[in-house]
Amino acid sequence: MACKIRDTLKNKNPHISFEIFPPKTEAGFDSVLSAADKIAALKPSFISVTYGAGGGTSKNTVNIASHIQNDLGVTSLAHLTCVSSTKEEVHRVIEELKAKKIENVLALRGDIPGGNEFPLPNQYRYASELVEDIKTQGGFCIGGACYPEGHVETEHKKDDIMHLKHKVDCGLDFITTQMFFDNNIFYNFLYRIREQGIMIPVLPGIMPITNAKNMKRTLKLSGAALPQRFVAILDRFGEEPEAMKQAGIAYATDQIIDLIANGINHIHVYSMNKPEIAEAIMRNLSEIVKDTIY
Ligand code: FAD
Repeated sequence: MACKIRDTLKNKNPHISFEIFPPKTEAGFDSVLSAADKIAALKPSFISVTYGAGGGTSKNTVNIASHIQNDLGVTSLAHLTCVSSTKEEVHRVIEELKAKKIENVLALRGDIPGGNEFPLPNQYRYASELVEDIKTQGGFCIGGACYPEGHVETEHKKDDIMHLKHKVDCGLDFITTQMFFDNNIFYNFLYRIREQGIMIPVLPGIMPITNAKNMKRTLKLSGAALPQRFVAILDRFGEEPEAMKQAGIAYATDQIIDLIANGINHIHVYSMNKPEIAEAIMRNLSEIVKDTIY
């Protein structure tokens, strides 16, 4: 059943959403659809579908989000980045989303592409401009990104929070965080943004780290710090893939349980097209996340 995420977030019972990413080429399309089918069977509150940084996979994002919502009956959230596209190109994607009855969009700037002059005329500079633009199209529930440890481009966290406040005031309904591995960083961020008057729902983004080799790249991209407790897990299990997977799932589960115990009821899991990881987390939470919303 289609639904606006801002309404789902009014539900006070704990619930989980998952994220998948579209294939880079058409060849990978079926395997992503199959992962989406398995993750949808877990009845998450919604599934988000990321958007290729260069805009090249936009069609896949729209098609996969449409499959999740219109064929599988699970609310979908389509990511949309604007940094590598003209305003006309972005407007075309918004029209496609409308035509497929997708009601939820995560409005993002995307990483600035190297080597290009930025922004070119008729391009967006910040996500806040995209939020304003989507808002004028009407009918969408709009989410945005936020960074508990600060966005890598902004030197001072307080400036980042000031920019976030402006983005929220442009019309966001909720924000989802970059991954973090120490819940205290999230609690501190929440305190600081509430103090600045950002009162919309904040969904913590939890990334189960199940592969030590991919971890370095993930951490570099996200800028997230690794607590000593997780470093010990990596030292002990990093060379044993199955043990690392089990430990990574347990660590993510532990973060989620702590968040729920502290009153955070909506948690977004970066499940990375891996249904077995989403399934293991839901199994671990079977007595905690009982209420499937739909
Ligand atoms: P913005 O909100 O525009 O912020 C970017 C930077 O500009 C920040 O440093 C901010 O402080 C600064 N800033 C904002 N406004 C102003 C202003 N008025 N004046 C001065 N500085 C300002 N990337 C993808 O390519 N595809 C995805 O699907 C995707 N999904 C994501 C989902 C989540 C939950 C998160 C947290 C990130 C995601 N990203 C994705 C990565 C994201 O695109 C990058 O982090 C990007 O660099 C910033 O995007 P933003 O929307 O946060 O930008």
